[in-house]
Amino acid sequence: MKKVLTIAGSDSCGGAGIQADLKTFSAHLVYGMSVVTSVTAQNTQGVFGALDMPRDFIELQIKVVFEDIKVDAVKIGMLSSSEIIKTVSQSLKKYGAINVVLDPVMISKSGFKLLKYEAIETLIQDLIPVCTIITPNIHEASLLADMEIKNINEMKEACQRIHKLGAKNVLVKGGHLDDDAIDVLFDGKEFYYFKGQRINTINTHGTGCTLSSAIASNLALGYPVPDAIKNSKEYIQRAIENSFSIGHGVGPVDHLY
Ligand code: PLP
Repeated sequence: MKKVLTIAGSDSCGGAGIQADLKTFSAHLVYGMSVVTSVTAQNTQGVFGALDMPRDFIELQIKVVFEDIKVDAVKIGMLSSSEIIKTVSQSLKKYGAINVVLDPVMISKSGFKLLKYEAIETLIQDLIPVCTIITPNIHEASLLADMEIKNINEMKEACQRIHKLGAKNVLVKGGHLDDDAIDVLFDGKEFYYFKGQRINTINTHGTGCTLSSAIASNLALGYPVPDAIKNSKEYIQRAIENSFSIGHGVGPVDHLY
């Protein structure tokens, strides 16, 4: 069985973060493992607090997993500070991690800052060059590429700028733009387009986490990057179609439709 590691934050209500990642791994029939970087207190209505794990302990979690187990892919989610980003990038380099998917998580849908603003530079310098693919949404892509993004041409330009920062593959997700939900992939040579159907639901908590862990699962299973994204888009589409309400706010997607 392929083994996939998530390095990310915990979501107490189970819709996003580590919990979404592990559910996604199971749905892809890969074995899921987790290194917790931060513990958040959250429900469907918002994030009420976040407690970072000590840097040494994040390092230790990564070390003992890699020293014992062959890791077929890694998904990186919430890393809240420069210190944590550096710890993770140094460890991934040390253990020669492959198939690294970086979801550059910055802010929750409810508006809680999951990454300190000043850490964006460290993400660019230290982590982007280590990853196989980065999956920013429009907001994250505009901060990384340092430009406004309002349409597909600007999405393409942002892909190229982020590729220049050292990301081998860049997937800019168009879900937050007004028109069709098109995602654009740039692999340094070609652009690929992935169109999704817009689904009328408020229950979209954890969609970014789910997509990136689906991509990591597909890479572990041996799919090339464009196929991994195509499969993952189909998965997230069905997961959103089957999303449901569990509390008073934004509910989760269904991993086991
Ligand atoms: N909590 C954690 C730990 C996350 O990693 C993320 C996103 O990556 C979120 C919350 C935000 O999820 P959403 O914006 O889908 O509500």
